[in-house]
Amino acid sequence: MHQLTLAEIARGLADKKFSSEELTKTLLARIAQLDPQLNSFISITEDLALAQAKAADARRANGESGALLGAPIAHKDLFCTQGIRTSCGSKMLDNFKAPYDATVVAKLAAAGAVTLGKTNMDEFAMGSANESSYYGAVKNPWNLEHVPGGSSGGSAAAVAARLLPAATGTDTGGSIRQPAALTNLTGLKPTYGRVSRWGMIAYASSLDQGGPLARTAEDCAILLQGMAGFDPQDSTSIDEPVPDYSAGLNGSLQGLRIGVPKEYFSAGLDPRIAELIHNSVKELEKLGAVVKEISLPNMQHAIPAYYVIAPAEASSNLSRFDGVRFGHRCEDPKNLEDLYKRSRAEGFGPEVQRRIMVGAYALSAGYYDAYYLKAQKIRRLIKNDFMAAFNEVDIILGPTTPNPAWKLGAKNSDPVAAYLEDVYTITANLAGLPGLSMPAGFVDGLPVGVQLLAPYFQEGRLLNVAHQYQLNTDWHTRTPTGF
Ligand code: GLN
Repeated sequence: MHQLTLAEIARGLADKKFSSEELTKTLLARIAQLDPQLNSFISITEDLALAQAKAADARRANGESGALLGAPIAHKDLFCTQGIRTSCGSKMLDNFKAPYDATVVAKLAAAGAVTLGKTNMDEFAMGSANESSYYGAVKNPWNLEHVPGGSSGGSAAAVAARLLPAATGTDTGGSIRQPAALTNLTGLKPTYGRVSRWGMIAYASSLDQGGPLARTAEDCAILLQGMAGFDPQDSTSIDEPVPDYSAGLNGSLQGLRIGVPKEYFSAGLDPRIAELIHNSVKELEKLGAVVKEISLPNMQHAIPAYYVIAPAEASSNLSRFDGVRFGHRCEDPKNLEDLYKRSRAEGFGPEVQRRIMVGAYALSAGYYDAYYLKAQKIRRLIKNDFMAAFNEVDIILGPTTPNPAWKLGAKNSDPVAAYLEDVYTITANLAGLPGLSMPAGFVDGLPVGVQLLAPYFQEGRLLNVAHQYQLNTDWHTRTPTGF
């Protein structure tokens, strides 16, 4: 039963082959048995899951239907869940029980999804390896000595290990697409404003976006359908109709114009990954797509710009965690300043502290123009590059990451080495565009992802292309040994 996709679960529940309660019990037992190897969950919400599963079964018995009614999922632990610990992977929020549900959590619960738990993540979503979590590193089910990617590494590892069919994630600079690539999943970062950020603990507010992680594009369509839509509670949410993503999966790719940026195939890219990306292009050509070389000339400036803008926003967003308004409070503070200093020094881990310092520096008087303002100008140039490219092509294709999953600890002493792994993903966040990563093969037994980018609000196009690719390839069906 644990091998079933969301689409297969929906059919099984509709045909009464099993109940949501049976499925939920099976998966909870599997999590209890296998997750100690992976550490993909911070909290397992067994009582909530069983209650939601029973309620979903009752709704089906009353004639209700729906692709998510009774479907087991999990939430990255930065989506607020009422009465349940929402830790953001940090000691700072270790004992924080959210007083309300995030819009994404509430929408999925209303659609009948069953929450099995809250997944592990890099502290405050800062990282690409899921090693900065206060709750310990997550392991990659494809090789337990390797990282699963981050920051949504817990969601990715859990879905890849078949502990559950799908989970939510968030993507500020690649945190859905990169772990999806490193664990052989399909993951989608929607257009900025497509999915509500209300109740999603903020890292960098102008970049953060929630989205689905699943094994197939078909399942991403189902989960995104439950997450997307206008939310008056989020002032950056966009009031744009949500199409039927599942209905759009079967469009023909005849004449689809694919742009492949020449800058993507530079020295930093593992040549074995480059070859797999070229193979995926050939596969899409067989389905009728036409390929064209394009250029994104400002791409080389994306990492420096991102690693100014994201920490700048983080330094502001994380000021609320001061031991007074939110978060861990130190013992016996001597005075207010001592309380702030020690609460924050004890509550935040080293990567979070580094980013707060970088961000505060970049925003400070005298440096603002040189760093923050400059980075914002680069952001506009990157967006302009994409706008020009999308005049010529319908999607942009390339690698999701320059390397496969690295060994646990391999990049711990050099944060910049880890930042460089984000080279292909962060441009979509800087421009606000939707992006998807899907399985494209293996290097040394480790999964490789191919990334597709589309114009604003064209999530349906990404899912359509990915689904057609997956009907003609079987990379996404491979299961890690031992799971
Ligand atoms: N790796 C990037 C960072 O550390 C992206 C993280 C994310 O998307 N949340 O900032």
